[in-house]
Amino acid sequence: MDSVEKIPRNFITEIIDADLKEGRHDHVATRFPPEPNGYLHIGHCKSICLNFGLARDYNGTCNLRFDDTNPVKEDMEYINSIKEDVQWLGFKWNGEVRHSSDYFDRLYGYAVELIHKGLAYVDELSPDEIRQYRGTLKEPGKHSPYRDRSPEENLKLFEKMRDGGFEEGKACLRAKIDMASPFMCMRDPVIYRIRYAAHAMTGDKWCIYPMYDFTHCISDAIEGITHSICTLEFQDNRRLYDWVLENITIDCMPHQYEMSRLNLEYSITSKRKLNLLVTEGFVDGWDDPRLTTISGLRRRGFTPASLREFCRRIGVTKQDNIVEMSALESCIREDLNANAPRAMAVLHPIKLIIDNYGEEGVTATSFTVPNHPDKPELGSREVSFSRELFIDEADFREEANKQYKRLKLGGTVRLRHGYIIKATSCEKDVNGNVVCVHAQAIPNSVGCDVEGVKAKGVIHFVDANNYYDGKVMMYQRLFTVPNPGAEDDITSVVDSHSVEVIEHAALEASLKSAKVGDSFQFEREGYFCVDSKHSAENQPVFNLTVALRETKKVQA
Ligand code: ATP
Ligand code: MG
Repeated sequence: MDSVEKIPRNFITEIIDADLKEGRHDHVATRFPPEPNGYLHIGHCKSICLNFGLARDYNGTCNLRFDDTNPVKEDMEYINSIKEDVQWLGFKWNGEVRHSSDYFDRLYGYAVELIHKGLAYVDELSPDEIRQYRGTLKEPGKHSPYRDRSPEENLKLFEKMRDGGFEEGKACLRAKIDMASPFMCMRDPVIYRIRYAAHAMTGDKWCIYPMYDFTHCISDAIEGITHSICTLEFQDNRRLYDWVLENITIDCMPHQYEMSRLNLEYSITSKRKLNLLVTEGFVDGWDDPRLTTISGLRRRGFTPASLREFCRRIGVTKQDNIVEMSALESCIREDLNANAPRAMAVLHPIKLIIDNYGEEGVTATSFTVPNHPDKPELGSREVSFSRELFIDEADFREEANKQYKRLKLGGTVRLRHGYIIKATSCEKDVNGNVVCVHAQAIPNSVGCDVEGVKAKGVIHFVDANNYYDGKVMMYQRLFTVPNPGAEDDITSVVDSHSVEVIEHAALEASLKSAKVGDSFQFEREGYFCVDSKHSAENQPVFNLTVALRETKKVQA
């Protein structure tokens, strides 16, 4: 997959190409600016791949900047997870990690500059009144009675705000722009508000905090960003972005470009909603393998290359759309099909007894099996074999029609990598469930055809005398509807049956030593990885990453 890693041309690369060609810029500097209020999700992955990918492709730089203007506490966990996710995806930020809060002093200075120029004022309307005065899309807003205060008075009041002289909500700083603007964000937007909250980086130094629209453009300019990419909902805000930079003294004029958000079927791309699922206990943390957070996808067994490939395939446009889950799944399937070693795992085991084991031609104690059918460099392993084996309950029926390609009484199949066998009888428990199948192996049938014997299909097995009794987690979609983000109550569309815990799968003995980071194709079942949360040394728990094929196996 690595060979084709370059961002396919899109409207942003066209803008950059033109900027470079026409001399507006001689380099490319981008940034990825997450707010540390949650873990990153697949939508952020799109933004990361684009911003860091542009820096890579144009020999430029990409900064990681935490947009931490909102003094929320306990965000160190989020900050660390975001750094980890970006690195895991294979990207490296330019220099040190940056924070909007690094610029609080300078931002304050720019606010003062606007006040001096008569372009900002301290308003003492309540937040509710500010909302009412703002007007609607059809009606212009009204001027605040505090709008025409002199710069001197505003300066004093702004200092009073900074020094803790107002209660929260009793004053704010607003840009003086145009209360009749067709763009609501230009109707004297609030640029500073009072918040008596300690900040993770600046502690108790400030009780006033700059708003996003004021902070973001200035942070971009301070860092010398050339192309500031965000999502379409900020399209109108570009007016404010430009207004701020045009009215302060700063010698860099970055430009904002908007692209469509990534929306993915059966998943949510909102940290707020993800947070709700986590805190209300609907999922096993931010990295629950059913979530399309980056950490959830990692724990699920997605590789960085598969996520980068996904982002390459979805492209960058201004059209809103919803991407099908199958687009994401095929990226990981292709990666694992090419690279994951194979193993045998019986998820719902029943016994298979080879009654003629030990007789002439039926004495194998193991088979040498390649780890990957197309990659001899991945080596081979010994798969043990004995009289008693496990097969999957779904692979045996007492009776079945011709379409059934597995084992039935009187029928013949090949054990994967082993003998051809014929089922002779079966035993059942009190409920009538088959618990044990008896069979005869065809002598000397390992790895070759036998005259007059036709195996109907191939089923996999695990030696019941040498196996790893392990736990396997089977996942289905977390949500019952394709667009859960549209629900008023996201928790009402969580499928409580989306995890099946198989406590006692019969796994090939070699799997006992699997480590976090290992992925396998369990033959005929799907791709599985070692769970990073619940595994222990020599006691790996396996997570289903993705099924072998898009459609579920047809049960004949
Ligand atoms: P959330 O609602 O999940 O908090 P956000 O946009 O507020 O999303 P930020 O942390 O502010 O999240 O986002 C950091 C960057 O990632 C921004 O540039 C934002 O535009 C981008 N981003 C966020 N969600 C998506 C998405 N679904 N598709 C593409 N880019 C996204
Ligand atoms: Mg946000």
